[in-house]
Amino acid sequence: MITAETQHLKPEYDVVVVGGGPAGMAAALGAKEMGADRVLIVDREKEAGGILLQCIHPGFGLQHFKEELTGPEYAQRFLEKVLETEVDLATDTYVLDIDKDKRVKLMSSDRGVEIVSAKAVVLAMGARERTRGAIRTPGSRPSGVLTAGLAQKFVNMLGYLPGKRAVILGSGDIGLIMARRLTLEGLEVAGVFEIMPHANGLNRNIVQCLHDYNIPLHLSTTVVEIHGSDRLEKVTVAPVDETFTPDMSRSWDIPCDTLLLSIGLIPENELSRQLNLRIDPVTRGPIVRSTMESSMDGVFVCGNVVHIHDLVDFVSQEALLAGRNAGLYATQQQPPEDNIRLVPGENVAYCVPHTISSDREHTVYMRVRKPLEASVLNLGEVYEKKLRYVFPAEMVNLKVRPRFLHEFHGDTLKVDIVPTAS
Ligand SMILES: Cc1cc2nc3c(=O)[nH]c(=O)nc-3n(C[C@H](O)[C@H](O)[C@H](O)COP(=O)(O)OP(=O)(O)OC[C@H]3O[C@@H](n4cnc5c(N)ncnc54)[C@H](O)[C@@H]3O)c2cc1C
Repeated sequence: MITAETQHLKPEYDVVVVGGGPAGMAAALGAKEMGADRVLIVDREKEAGGILLQCIHPGFGLQHFKEELTGPEYAQRFLEKVLETEVDLATDTYVLDIDKDKRVKLMSSDRGVEIVSAKAVVLAMGARERTRGAIRTPGSRPSGVLTAGLAQKFVNMLGYLPGKRAVILGSGDIGLIMARRLTLEGLEVAGVFEIMPHANGLNRNIVQCLHDYNIPLHLSTTVVEIHGSDRLEKVTVAPVDETFTPDMSRSWDIPCDTLLLSIGLIPENELSRQLNLRIDPVTRGPIVRSTMESSMDGVFVCGNVVHIHDLVDFVSQEALLAGRNAGLYATQQQPPEDNIRLVPGENVAYCVPHTISSDREHTVYMRVRKPLEASVLNLGEVYEKKLRYVFPAEMVNLKVRPRFLHEFHGDTLKVDIVPTAS
């Protein structure tokens, strides 16, 4: 991995990017492309790359690079471009605070506390994993209960195996990937348990990580008790009904020393809250215009901080856009304001961006609430798109072209995804 930390930071930057994951790196490149001269990426880890560095499995880059890469390979390609374009990179540096004048307070063990000013800021802090506390699983508190991403870091980066026999709670992509990884590393994976009636990871991961390794997936089933004093000894699992109430008469015990939790990611928005950005209660990320600008002028956001993405390729696309617009803002050229608000309607949990402009092309990302086979996406009454199937785990992407909106003179468009009329 190439990495080159900038030794002396400048006191003033055109654009400061918080987070050096795939979103932060693409945003910095976007800002440079638009003529921002002084661009800084800050990341609290020792190397840029974000969560990709621990994702040593293939499956990245199919859309962006048209080839299948591992996470570190994908990160490396962006990092090389970042270094070629002379973006400053401050790793091992934590962003403590950003004030309303866009003065960014940084802390690192080498340089101590510093303040740099920015004309525009891009927030790209990623997401963190939900833990046991978020779902309040009853039982004791032994060791051996950890999030799937933490286990991934132990196994792939630090060389430790978390145990010998594992149960995985939640069928998110990280849990599925870890079911395969642990099996390859010699652990026995007793099964993946998912409270919802459908899996929460990408279909390709269900096939490649569970089916190919004969790991059972139990839908509508959850862990109802954790047993063990020092170390996890077993878990009790039980099927749930449509109100998610466990049927204890059908519960059973599974001996195991490891329980991995893959129960969702939460956008890392402490800095966004400090800045008082308007937050969407569904995505738990900032509300954004089509330029990826938040509710505060000159503060742009992208990647998992805004909404949890299924594929990193979409993170890079969205972040390039955020970075380009941050670059334009810093050099005082801005596209016209948005004039249409998007409202999630039937079976649509959210739409990002939240507003669009009728004079430009946009990619709108959304997620459905429940799976459907043949269905149709209605953008108000101005456009419809047929979809073969939709699934909550997979984002739906819609290209909205100005020609769809020629005849539209309103200011709000509702987006529905409904079954095709038979
Ligand atoms: C286990 C797992 C498997 C995945 N598998 C795939 C796959 O097969 N294919 C695929 O396309 N996608 C996959 N993804 C998704 C993809 O990796 C993510 O969508 C992508 O990494 C999100 O990018 P990001 O830059 O928004 O966040 P991150 O990668 O999380 O980067 C955020 C960065 O911000 C830094 N940061 C946060 N707060 C601060 C602060 N205050 N100061 C300084 N730095 C800060 C963090 O240290 C981190 O480096 C997977 C994700 C996971 C977790």
